[in-house]
Amino acid sequence: MDNRLTRCIYDHSPVLCQELFASVFGLRKRLIRSGKHFGKYYSFFRDARTWSRSDLEAFQDEKIETLIRYCYEHVPFYRQRMDNNKLTPADIVRVADLPKLPVLEKSDVRSAGSSLLSDAIPKKSMLSATTSGSTGYPLTNYWSLETEQREYAFSWARRKPGVKRGDSYGSFTGLQIVKADCMHPPFWRHNYAANQTCYSIFHITPQTIPLYVNEIRRRQHVYLTGYPSVIAMLGRHIVEHSLARPEGIKAVFVTSEQLLPEYRHWIEYGFNAHAYDMYGQNEKSSSITEYECGHMHYDMDYGVIEFCPYEQSEEGLPLYEMICTGFDNLASPLLRYRVGDLVARPEKDVICEHIASPVISYVYGRTSHTLVTSDGRRIGNISVIAKRCNHIEGMQCLQNEPGRLEVRVIKAKDYTSEDEINIREQFKQKMGRIDLRITYVDQLERTSSGKLLSIICRIKS
Ligand SMILES: [Zn+2]
Repeated sequence: MDNRLTRCIYDHSPVLCQELFASVFGLRKRLIRSGKHFGKYYSFFRDARTWSRSDLEAFQDEKIETLIRYCYEHVPFYRQRMDNNKLTPADIVRVADLPKLPVLEKSDVRSAGSSLLSDAIPKKSMLSATTSGSTGYPLTNYWSLETEQREYAFSWARRKPGVKRGDSYGSFTGLQIVKADCMHPPFWRHNYAANQTCYSIFHITPQTIPLYVNEIRRRQHVYLTGYPSVIAMLGRHIVEHSLARPEGIKAVFVTSEQLLPEYRHWIEYGFNAHAYDMYGQNEKSSSITEYECGHMHYDMDYGVIEFCPYEQSEEGLPLYEMICTGFDNLASPLLRYRVGDLVARPEKDVICEHIASPVISYVYGRTSHTLVTSDGRRIGNISVIAKRCNHIEGMQCLQNEPGRLEVRVIKAKDYTSEDEINIREQFKQKMGRIDLRITYVDQLERTSSGKLLSIICRIKS
């Protein structure tokens, strides 16, 4: 669906043809992803899961040494950057040496253009994607076919416990698979190549939810994937309207948005399945995965994350900004890349008997998805506040400057002025002095790709 003509043909085709398009597109994607490198990476990631911490650290040091040498030899941007800093590959041979290199900002990536591409891989064989991101600046990422297969192998070796390739699944992402002005079902299309049903998240309303739930039940999905806010909305509707729960769903794999505690609650309760969280980026710089042990673990065999202390901590947990170096995107390697996301880590390293890599308490998401108090603290999650506010159906915060805040609220039927006083009180308790404006809306703002952010912060960090 990558050009206007294809889009136009797709939009004007009958449902059956659209499903045929989706299936051909899906088959092509599946063939590319399960190509010749898939097997080797699948075995690697399956085995590396059981490595000890010292094995993982030794592996990281080895990878860094090879990667730095490769970048110096094949990527003009890094050769120049290292020359400018009087560095040679011999100066960076382990993870601990990485801070000798400057941090790579998104603005560097934008201005570097093709000098960040490797001369060892033909550009015409690379895959690319442009993301607008929440900051609104477009960024194009390039990767090789091998990296595409590695990603797919990583996903199947590590991120989908209890299900297998070919199982029926439903996905809820920002794909525009049904025309925006379409008023009639079906609001989903089936991709026969992957046994996947793509549900349009842009057509979900209280009136259409029962249709979605029926379809999920009819398709007998084994698992669901997609944005947690959307799947939670369906789960909540199932519970609150006592609809029959779809049976046989083993797991729900969520990504791209913060998995807020209330989202997890509604997903798990509504679908009677465990919700697994995961974190990564289009840039393929780092990965954090929730495993069956219930922890989120930093995937040390995927890339290096340097955890840099970030402003003040919230709720007693130290916050860190991640600086990431992914191992295997050799088409356009990113060394010490500031992904712009924050994580909270436990104060003491948690010993897990299943996975040896460090435990992450919470991924806070983008620095642009945190609120700033007038004394400079960062708040990455308003669910603690929202939980104490009564008779509301949704809440979203918008901040353009420190000390000022707009709170958008969807009122429930029994909302009163007492509830508004309570909302003000809750924010005051959490954020201190704040100029707060409450606006009432029918629905909350989603990004162009359909993501729902509970916090939209436009303060530059
Ligand atoms: Zn664990």
